[in-house]
Amino acid sequence: MSTSTIEIAGREGERVRLTSEQLAELAVRVEGPLLRPGDDGWDEAVLVWNGMVARTPALVLRPTTAHDVVAAVGFARDHGLLLSIKGGGHNIAGTAIAEGGLMLDKSPMRHVTVEPDARLAHVGPGCLLKHVDQATQAHGLATVLGFISETGVAGLTLGGGLGYLTRRFGWTVDNLEEVEIVTADGNIRTANREENADLFWAIRGGGDNFGVVTRFTFRLHEVGPTVYGGLIAWPFERADEILRAYQTFTAEAPRELAVWLVLLRAPAAPFVPEEWHGKRICAMSVCYSGDLDDVDEALAPIWALRDPIVDLLRQQPYIQLQSYLDATEPKGNHYYWKTEYLAELSDDSLSTTRDLFAECPIPEAQIGFLHLGGALNEHAWDDGAVGNRDARFATGVNGMWEPDEPNADTFRQWVHEAWQRLRPFSTGGNYINFQTADEDEARIRPTYGANFDRLVQVKRKYDPDNLFRANRNIRPQARAG
Ligand SMILES: Cc1cc2nc3c(=O)[nH]c(=O)nc-3n(C[C@H](O)[C@H](O)[C@H](O)COP(=O)(O)OP(=O)(O)OC[C@H]3O[C@@H](n4cnc5c(N)ncnc54)[C@H](O)[C@@H]3O)c2cc1C
Repeated sequence: MSTSTIEIAGREGERVRLTSEQLAELAVRVEGPLLRPGDDGWDEAVLVWNGMVARTPALVLRPTTAHDVVAAVGFARDHGLLLSIKGGGHNIAGTAIAEGGLMLDKSPMRHVTVEPDARLAHVGPGCLLKHVDQATQAHGLATVLGFISETGVAGLTLGGGLGYLTRRFGWTVDNLEEVEIVTADGNIRTANREENADLFWAIRGGGDNFGVVTRFTFRLHEVGPTVYGGLIAWPFERADEILRAYQTFTAEAPRELAVWLVLLRAPAAPFVPEEWHGKRICAMSVCYSGDLDDVDEALAPIWALRDPIVDLLRQQPYIQLQSYLDATEPKGNHYYWKTEYLAELSDDSLSTTRDLFAECPIPEAQIGFLHLGGALNEHAWDDGAVGNRDARFATGVNGMWEPDEPNADTFRQWVHEAWQRLRPFSTGGNYINFQTADEDEARIRPTYGANFDRLVQVKRKYDPDNLFRANRNIRPQARAG
């Protein structure tokens, strides 16, 4: 350490002074490095995906074991420090970083162990989705993970988790068998449906409010390794026809078929004919993970749409499908999203979506629908805190622009207004993992609906002083109702 004391943010907004002796006491108790600005690894550790996040911690610990986490949690608790946790750093609200606080960067904890016979994967909290898919697909197995392979498993799972396999196997947390977690009192606990069952219930959707997860154990399913899918797109001028077809075929689609419909401007990519670059299009991102002999039948309603301007649908490794959209969401751009869950695709929701996209001033915006439903609708509403068991679609307005965009304020305002026009179609629920920094408790409550009060009770039991508050926070003092 180059200075004898440092100032670090306290939990109640105060400044806490730490001496180099106190830091050395922590450093000697952990295997992973304790970093200050300018140290090797600092820039990578404090980088998060959304360039709009302008916060920096004062101190970073990169734990390598659960015991490192115990030491750090105890240190933060005893000194009253503001603590944050980074998994993959992909959260749009940037909750991995608390300004001026102590951050635990879990990226060194990237182990994955697969038990193919038991159909289980034990996953370290620093893993990105690709690390898990790579390890499990080696055995022709997979669990439910998201669409961009650079996303962190930890944050995705703790908020619920959705992806191409959700219709078959439910939310990611429906496939979570067990966690090892360090709670605010510094204990390393195992939580599953039998042991610490209240804690296990809460972390399955209630996110990062209850401790630091140091291991996830997921149930696996046979998937691929070859599936059918990719991208197909048509001119936006055909939006009415495409949206109506989507409304019809998603009502009857087999669970093995997951289709994300998105309205966007075509990227200047080599697979898009040049005359379409920058023009408005209707695209579908498709994954059919069932028996390949049944592809023709499953995809018939999509092929019946004829004359696409891009058709990249084909057999491919599941793992490739899980990463082919990575380049569409580059790290460092500014992102502002608003999303809702829908119980159905009404005619009005489709025409509103079409009109919104026709008016959208943001060149790199996406508005669309993700088909969910299926297995997730079959669980009881209180099977895990994640709730939203009535969701059959997710819809969202996603704005993206460069850091120096002069119209950023206008774009942000537009996303906000567009969201107001989509809200009347919502179930009332929304996905906690897509919430932006300006969404507060008034928005967090409906995420959990009737599960919210129970989450508060579990929070009071395991984190009464709200040590874990750099997140979509469930306050221990939150009032019932
Ligand atoms: C481009 C992009 C695509 C996405 N696609 C999908 C998708 O297909 N499906 C989907 O479900 N979601 C998706 N998401 C949302 C994603 O699930 C959330 O952004 C999630 O928070 C990311 O997790 P992370 O670990 O990368 O994030 P981080 O920012 O590192 O962490 C998110 C939150 O989790 C907490 N946390 C991290 N690790 C731990 C831990 N070990 N213990 C306790 N708390 C922890 C952090 O404190 C933080 O509050 C996407 C996000 C992006 C940016």
